[in-house]
Amino acid sequence: MRSKILIALLLVAVLVLTGCRHRNEPVADPAQEPQGEIAAKPSAGEPQPGEEPEEPLLPMMETSLSDYPLSTPTDDILVLVNKTHPVTRDYVADDLVTVEHCDQSVGNKDTKKMRKVAADAIEELIAGAKEDGFDIVMRTGYRSYDYQDYLFSSYAANYGEAEANTYSARPGQSEHQTGWCCDVGRPGYGLTSFDGTKEADWIAENCWKYGFILRYPADKTDITGYIYESWHIRYVGKDAAQYIYENGLTLEEYLGILD
Ligand SMILES: [Zn+2]
Repeated sequence: MRSKILIALLLVAVLVLTGCRHRNEPVADPAQEPQGEIAAKPSAGEPQPGEEPEEPLLPMMETSLSDYPLSTPTDDILVLVNKTHPVTRDYVADDLVTVEHCDQSVGNKDTKKMRKVAADAIEELIAGAKEDGFDIVMRTGYRSYDYQDYLFSSYAANYGEAEANTYSARPGQSEHQTGWCCDVGRPGYGLTSFDGTKEADWIAENCWKYGFILRYPADKTDITGYIYESWHIRYVGKDAAQYIYENGLTLEEYLGILD
């Protein structure tokens, strides 16, 4: 009898320890899930998609795809794409080029692309970081509507649509479809492990010099509709980036569009 109790206690201890270790592991990156082609969706029981916020979520604006009309974005570098300014399914920028310094293990050949001007700027940023002693790579740039559809569906299946929509865009509502933004990271590390690193600090302090802004600041979640993302930067050109940085704005505030 006593040995059975001991075995039961041992089992509980092993389970607890295994659970703890799992929580401390780098969070998986959703962009790593589909390798090349869109892969099978993770089963609902598995917490595969990353970016799971550990802190309690602030109330976020939840939208459905029918709430706002879809439009085709202009070529303006300040074009706004968010939950209230979604884009059409077939929109693809016509000057997407592959970024050389990207994490080869993430996403597919399309997600390694950005619009030409932004791709040149991210290469300059990566070189600038290197000069300062920081190793930074581009993880995902362009995402097609269908790729975003896959990512969002994966999150929604695991965490429910409302929660998924606080950190993942619905298809059409992702800035990634414009080719003007990207997620950056440290080579070999998961997306969310970027938070609190020296590299993340460097990005926050210096990305404006290369024409990028931190698109989803920690204190602006009520405006952007998304949780803080230390890794997501958006190209807006050097003048706008400097102004936005120096005045602590979001793109929505800079453009005067708050809805
Ligand atoms: Zn992003």
